[in-house]
Amino acid sequence: MRILVTGGAGFLGSHLCGRLLDEGHDIICLDNFFTGSKDNIIHLMDSHRFELVRHDITEPLLLEVDRIYNLACPASPVHYQYNPVKTIKTSVMGTINMLGMAKRVKARILQASTSEVYGDPQVHPQTEGYWGNVNPIGIRSCYDEGKRVAETLMMDYHRQNSVDIRIVRIFNTYGPRMAENDGRVVSNFILQALRNEEITVYGDGSQTRSFCYVSDLVDGMIRMMECDNFIGPVNLGNPDENSILEFAEKIITIANSSSRIIFKPLPQDDPKQRQPDISLAGYKLGWKPQVALDAGLGTTTRYFAARIGKG
Ligand code: NAD
Ligand code: UDP
Repeated sequence: MRILVTGGAGFLGSHLCGRLLDEGHDIICLDNFFTGSKDNIIHLMDSHRFELVRHDITEPLLLEVDRIYNLACPASPVHYQYNPVKTIKTSVMGTINMLGMAKRVKARILQASTSEVYGDPQVHPQTEGYWGNVNPIGIRSCYDEGKRVAETLMMDYHRQNSVDIRIVRIFNTYGPRMAENDGRVVSNFILQALRNEEITVYGDGSQTRSFCYVSDLVDGMIRMMECDNFIGPVNLGNPDENSILEFAEKIITIANSSSRIIFKPLPQDDPKQRQPDISLAGYKLGWKPQVALDAGLGTTTRYFAARIGKG
């Protein structure tokens, strides 16, 4: 198949491009390089089945493809809050452009949605049936509400125009190729630990997250794309839940670091707890994560150590 991956030079997108290329497909990687980088895909560029297109999905384009994975959107709060108007344009206008293309060329399209559609959840763990608790006017809204509209657009193009859609709600995912300046907790803590700098826990660290290793996530995305008669939304994530304080301690141990933990103010609207219910993914896709947190963090720590010359 010919497959378009938007946001393909980013963290998740680059792993997805690599896996799809390994499976024998022709890949078009599209990116505007806001948070992505050519370094993430340089190893794929020798393949004659890999093409790179510099483009911004808020502008229309037409490509003849069989599948579209729509991942283009900054994912770290630091990056999506840098230009919030652009963030919401990417989710709304960008998704309309990709759906328009899917409709025209009859491609199947998968939207990378997020656990953020549940906001600061009042149901725990989160099931797909929960409608969420999102602040529409806060500093996370450009991302959360953008992704909620993207889901709405997917469903309406499906109902109105019979576009063949899939929606995955991705929970916190980590692994090699996260950007050094990404600002999300995994890369921040690992880099701080490796440099023996203070580990910056926001709030009292009692808030929880559940972290999924990138290879598991990519596997779930591909299974969902190729699953017939199920459009989602489906949660993809690892239910292994940790408080952020526990997580900081774990990383200090794994990195064999002398860092101490310091506490900084909790950002506005930071969700207090998050854990995916992945029963639906198990039932419909036969999917569950395979990589345990300690193993995945070990691999990611070695990756960052090599990258900053401490390997
Ligand atoms: P990332 O920031 O590494 O990748 C996003 C990519 O999209 C980057 O390469 C960036 O340059 C590109 N991009 C951004 N805006 C664009 C635009 N307007 N046009 C073209 N390209 C654009 O983030 P990631 O972690 O790889 O996330 C990928 C997708 O998965 C995002 O849609 C994100 O919302 C979603 N997601 C990720 C996580 C996670 O934990 N990693 C969790 C939930 C959802
Ligand atoms: N966090 C933290 N220190 C950091 C970065 C993040 O304590 O240096 C916290 C953040 O407040 C949140 C959790 O870690 O409670 C996960 O943050 P991240 O930005 O990775 O993802 P999200 O909040 O979008 O799940």
